[in-house]
Amino acid sequence: MRRVFLLLQKTRSLDKSCHIFCFEQIYNADMDYSSYTDMFGKRKCDCGKTHDFTVKCLLSHGAFGKMHEFLAEFVPSMSRVVLVYDDEALMQAIYGNIKREFRAACVKVEDDKRLLDLVSVPEDSKLVLAVGSHKAINGAKYKAYTCDLPVIIASKPDFGALTSLCTISENGAVSTYEVAKPIGYIFDLDCELTDRDKAELFGTVAARLNTSFEYYASSVLAAHEYCPYIAGALSDIAAQTVLKLAGSDAAPSDLLLEAALKVGLLCSTENFDRSGEEQCGLTYAALNDGAYTQGELQFVFASVLSSLFKAHIRSRKDFVPPPDNNYRTEHIAQLFGISEFKAISTMIPQISGREAAVTEYKIREYSPDFIEKLDKNINLYRPAFKIFKRLYADDGFSLEDLLNSDIPISISLAPDIINGSGMLTTLKKLGELDQYLI
Ligand SMILES: [Zn+2]
Repeated sequence: MRRVFLLLQKTRSLDKSCHIFCFEQIYNADMDYSSYTDMFGKRKCDCGKTHDFTVKCLLSHGAFGKMHEFLAEFVPSMSRVVLVYDDEALMQAIYGNIKREFRAACVKVEDDKRLLDLVSVPEDSKLVLAVGSHKAINGAKYKAYTCDLPVIIASKPDFGALTSLCTISENGAVSTYEVAKPIGYIFDLDCELTDRDKAELFGTVAARLNTSFEYYASSVLAAHEYCPYIAGALSDIAAQTVLKLAGSDAAPSDLLLEAALKVGLLCSTENFDRSGEEQCGLTYAALNDGAYTQGELQFVFASVLSSLFKAHIRSRKDFVPPPDNNYRTEHIAQLFGISEFKAISTMIPQISGREAAVTEYKIREYSPDFIEKLDKNINLYRPAFKIFKRLYADDGFSLEDLLNSDIPISISLAPDIINGSGMLTTLKKLGELDQYLI
């Protein structure tokens, strides 16, 4: 039996020389975890803040068969547990496992706020359990928050879901809500990871290079709180994963799971605004039929945005924003099937005058830092793209549709569709993304 268990080491503080070692990886083939203890806690960081890593997380073979034990870590037996699901087979398996020790109510979920608001949760419920994919996770997080209940996740690896953000559709457009953070995550390693699952995991990890950049950009451009240790850890874990896999024919699931869990936990500790690749990935998904996962989309957009940001930062002197017109409003209204009035209300306004001048000054003032970080990322995204494609059985042929489709329009519209505060959103506010409205 092999188990993957990650613990946060509680004795070592985050410091500049070893910030990525804030996690102690325990990866032991022989250990038998018969009880689940808090693996993560609150940590005082050298940035002055205390980061909260509190989540119980179990990844093991046969984990779903021990679902009732895992639930017992959170609520007493015979408690009412609400299963919010979009995967019928997984729901049935989990329901069968817990029905003797918990009173389960099952709710099939839709990715629509109106429908979610109509879903009733029994009053005596003590916990919400998300079962399935993004749709179930977002629905469960939203429902748990509105009912003031804790939420845990039983899903394929989707550790980006450990944040306090959820994205659901509303009136034809997508909206991001701040909700409660999940307090537990369980995944059964007996569920075989497909090639695409691996690509999604790798994509999620490698995209964090750009997340780290956007996190920094939002601290410079929007004065958001910033922890250099978390930003550094995100970049380092992503870079190390790329370098470990470059030139190798194999992509071990263990390595990808470990890296994905680490970056998922790091992102869960801070209320990061959505970064550019997330804004674009969610916008692309809203415009298309869900052929690609968020891990795939975020990787592709992270790579594209790194080069795009560099080009925009380097061409400050030459750029003259095109005249404002209704083209953007018309596009959003048409693409999302909403009125132009509604479209205008979703859009973030273009900045002008002193605000634009100050923003312009900051971009120029910090451009050496920005360019240095972007160059590092661009150099890693080159080998990363090759690794990413090789994870597919068809060597990435199935990505052709994505690469030849709505990438420019998604980049252009993303800041209006999903809130953010980093470089992508700043470029939109300066009118520089209108040129991709093609
Ligand atoms: Zn910190």
